[in-house]
Amino acid sequence: MQIRLSSLLVAAAVAAMASPVLAQKPVTDQMIENDAATPGDILSWGLGTQGQRYSPLKQINASTIGKLVPAWSFSFGGEKQRGQQSQPLIHEGKMYVTASYSRIFALDVKTGAKLWKYEHRLPEGIMPCCDVINRGAAIYDNLVIFGTLDAQLVALNAATGEVVWKEKIDNYADGYSNTAAPIIANGLVMTGVSGGEFGVVGRVEARDAKTGRLVWMRPTVEGHMGYTYDKDGKASENGVSGTTGKSWPGDLWKTGGAATWLGGTYNAKTGLIYFGTGNPAPWNSHLRKGDNLYSCSTVAIDAKTGKIVWHYQNTPNDGWDFDGVNEFVTYEEGGRILGGKADRNGFFYVNDAKTGQLVNAFPFVKKITWATGIDLKTGRPNYVPENRPGDPTGGADNKGKSVFSAPSFLGGKNQMPMAYSPDTKLFYVPSNEWGMEIWNEPVTYKKGAAYLGAGFTIKTLSDGPIGALRAVDPKTGKIVWEATNNAPLWGGVLTTGGNLVFWGTPEGFLQAADAKTGKIVWKFQTGSGIVAPPITWQQDGEQYVAVASGWGGAVPLWGGDVAKKVAFLEQGGSVWVFKLMK
Ligand code: CA
Ligand code: CA
Repeated sequence: MQIRLSSLLVAAAVAAMASPVLAQKPVTDQMIENDAATPGDILSWGLGTQGQRYSPLKQINASTIGKLVPAWSFSFGGEKQRGQQSQPLIHEGKMYVTASYSRIFALDVKTGAKLWKYEHRLPEGIMPCCDVINRGAAIYDNLVIFGTLDAQLVALNAATGEVVWKEKIDNYADGYSNTAAPIIANGLVMTGVSGGEFGVVGRVEARDAKTGRLVWMRPTVEGHMGYTYDKDGKASENGVSGTTGKSWPGDLWKTGGAATWLGGTYNAKTGLIYFGTGNPAPWNSHLRKGDNLYSCSTVAIDAKTGKIVWHYQNTPNDGWDFDGVNEFVTYEEGGRILGGKADRNGFFYVNDAKTGQLVNAFPFVKKITWATGIDLKTGRPNYVPENRPGDPTGGADNKGKSVFSAPSFLGGKNQMPMAYSPDTKLFYVPSNEWGMEIWNEPVTYKKGAAYLGAGFTIKTLSDGPIGALRAVDPKTGKIVWEATNNAPLWGGVLTTGGNLVFWGTPEGFLQAADAKTGKIVWKFQTGSGIVAPPITWQQDGEQYVAVASGWGGAVPLWGGDVAKKVAFLEQGGSVWVFKLMK
């Protein structure tokens, strides 16, 4: 009886809290499409679904930045620290920021006061490959939506934090998880899946953002059937992705990987969503002669129909775990819509965003061993065959030939999103120089178990800096400037109309450089390593900058010799907010 009474009291308190905030302006498709041009809010991962991470704001610039100071900081609390990779969202004076272990907080942007917290109840036995991170939420109507480590999608009332709907994406026990920020277009919330190291089948799903009802599903492994769903959940076939048996030998496509774990971008002018796809499974490429579509690719999907319009494969028949999940950032040049992608394999690609046609490709890291370049006519890499890890069949100790490969599978660039400035027409790419010893081993598929068929050790290339923030000209392929960093960069980038580039370092600094020259003009120590992308917005005439701080992610877990080199870095869990001192 007492329990019943207290829950009634809680319900009454929540209702009382909720009433004034229900007047909050619901987020519409139109507002999300315009997000990049409206610096008073941040409604999407990427500061606009195009993913440019550019804000036209210029109150903070090279001459004022000396007065940029903390406004407040908020701790994610508890004992749950580890990697904080979240990009916050900003709407109507509130910040929505996710944290490690599938948590999300709503905060008052002026004071940092906590408005509500939702902590997802995680089961034992979740299998995230690369730390218990989350990259951010989506916002639609009066809902805040985010993915969880046990592969669910949760929609919360933005005013109260109450669960409005909750949908299971897949079984966590089979290796599925979800860490990316969902993307919203035409009232649909679109998500991918994580789990490429467990032989899952990558896919993109679209749901009605208001209800969570599944609308379409598109597999990203060639040969699998796509579906649409009616209001009662009844599935109809919507065409096979590609042609069954064409780019995969035997039955390997059934457990083909190509996980869509970093989520997607969307361009309203093309009507296409762009999802990158991860490695084909298993890692041993000799088992799967062929291109293994659509692994290690950019896949452009019609947001309305769920059909693949084009694909471009960055690493056909990948043998190095060069996940091609990196974000495809669209921009306009000479009336044409193009997309830039800094791939884990070390090459930067420019594709026509409507057709996928390759426009340019060039290295953005200094050492690449697996290919000598990308043939712009065929769109294919010029491989160096002797630098592919060998076939383990009949090998000594049941191992294939071990090779030294650069980049390492942690990539020339990994999950940390780059930025594009329409002012300088440069991409700002957080990149790393490192390599790995890699070899193949026999493997058999077992549901829910690691499915690699390979062993590896990440290595440094020198005693010098591993990270470099590089300003890259997509037209010429030139690196215009670079700012090196001792530890590998693992956070994202922001660029502004104030001619600034902001990024964080594992050593804990949030820093800013002149966007044209790379000269560092400001830095601040946040107390733990930064592995998240910064944001900026304007509130009541003042420009704010924010970033989550908390060291973690894949490097300490998988980084071999590099992990040892950066073992001195401490964990954390907070968000920092800055503005100009008056
Ligand atoms: Ca906006
Ligand atoms: Ca992978």
